[in-house]
Amino acid sequence: MDPLSWVDEQLTQLERADLLRTLPPPLRTAGASVELDGQTVVNFASNDYLALAADSRLIDAATRACHSSGVGRAASPLISGRSEIHDCLEQQLAKFQRTEAALLFPTSFAANAGIIPALVDRGDAIYGDAKNHASIIDGCRLARAERHIYPHADLDTLEQLLRQGSKFRRRLIVTDSLFSMDGDLAPIPQLAALAEQYQAMLMVDEAHAIGVFGENGRGAVEHFAVADPQLESRVHIRVGTFAKSLGSAGGFVCGSAPLIKWLSNRARTYVFSTAQPAGIAAAGAVALDLVASEPERRNLLLKKAQRLRQLLNQRGWDTGASVSQIIPIKIGSPAATMRLSEQLRQRGYWAPGIRPPSVPDHDCLLRLGLTAAHSDEMIASFVQTLEQVREYA
Ligand SMILES: *Cc1c(COP(=O)(O)O)cnc(C)c1O
Repeated sequence: MDPLSWVDEQLTQLERADLLRTLPPPLRTAGASVELDGQTVVNFASNDYLALAADSRLIDAATRACHSSGVGRAASPLISGRSEIHDCLEQQLAKFQRTEAALLFPTSFAANAGIIPALVDRGDAIYGDAKNHASIIDGCRLARAERHIYPHADLDTLEQLLRQGSKFRRRLIVTDSLFSMDGDLAPIPQLAALAEQYQAMLMVDEAHAIGVFGENGRGAVEHFAVADPQLESRVHIRVGTFAKSLGSAGGFVCGSAPLIKWLSNRARTYVFSTAQPAGIAAAGAVALDLVASEPERRNLLLKKAQRLRQLLNQRGWDTGASVSQIIPIKIGSPAATMRLSEQLRQRGYWAPGIRPPSVPDHDCLLRLGLTAAHSDEMIASFVQTLEQVREYA
């Protein structure tokens, strides 16, 4: 018997449950309007929130860095992989997030998978939001600490768990700041208060909020810090990615100098992985500059998102708790969600259907990722088209 015959059986099961995923056709670039199978479609399927992924300034910086520093780094940072470009970018990141230090990872998935096991071990405890990103969940699984999952944003349950957990050596509360499927914000001020009260570390992943939220684009922590200027210093571990609004790639963590030193010694995805390519780091540095010099990108984006939510809600579509550029349209079953997505695509709109394991069973949704490049016209005509395909839901 073929030892891999189970794969076909499993794939058939996924297909029967409407859960089989297939790759979309390859795309030339990200953008609000893209060529898909020879058809021009309005693209709501990307996280290129500030429309920087194909910006010529990032491309030029990446090209120059490739010429000066090569394509690959050929070693991990602790051996010989770190260039001056990386050194500058880490300093720029620390300055941007107003922390003592920062550390670059190949991706933010790698950052979470490496950081969490470096913070907690046997005899420790982790408290994580039920809707945390898969990379946080995997980081928690890799740590040998006891794991406690609290229902999404449920502070009462979290406090109860913390109260019962005084026996643990170290404790870590970890959450997304802007949730990737629902587009809602974690209650960061309240989480910081609980962390303080129960002497826990607080780790916040700003992957979707960096560049979009906060007066200076530092993320949701900065957004909430308007009411409490001390808040930023009370979030001990701040993770982010260059791969979404910053238009490049690579993960990072910002925090105190001793914390960063510890992570560079103990986060296995840092120690045992080749340094980020210099071209990618150089593009990230330009993106951070643009977040500072072009605040209108994020301001307009959030205004457009509010308008789109309003148009959808007026027509009876449920956008859940979204307050951001991530707008879910809640549908329910996988089959109805995929039907609707397909009908929209035939009419020139790419709004991906999101199914388990990205969301719980029967919480399937169309996920709209709005970007600074979406025009008012695109938004209005999308809402009209959605009305035309309503019967498929
Ligand atoms: C997308 C995402 C990541 C992964 O980021 P990459 O840099 O693409 O690996 C990590 N955390 C959260 C919350 C995310 O949404």
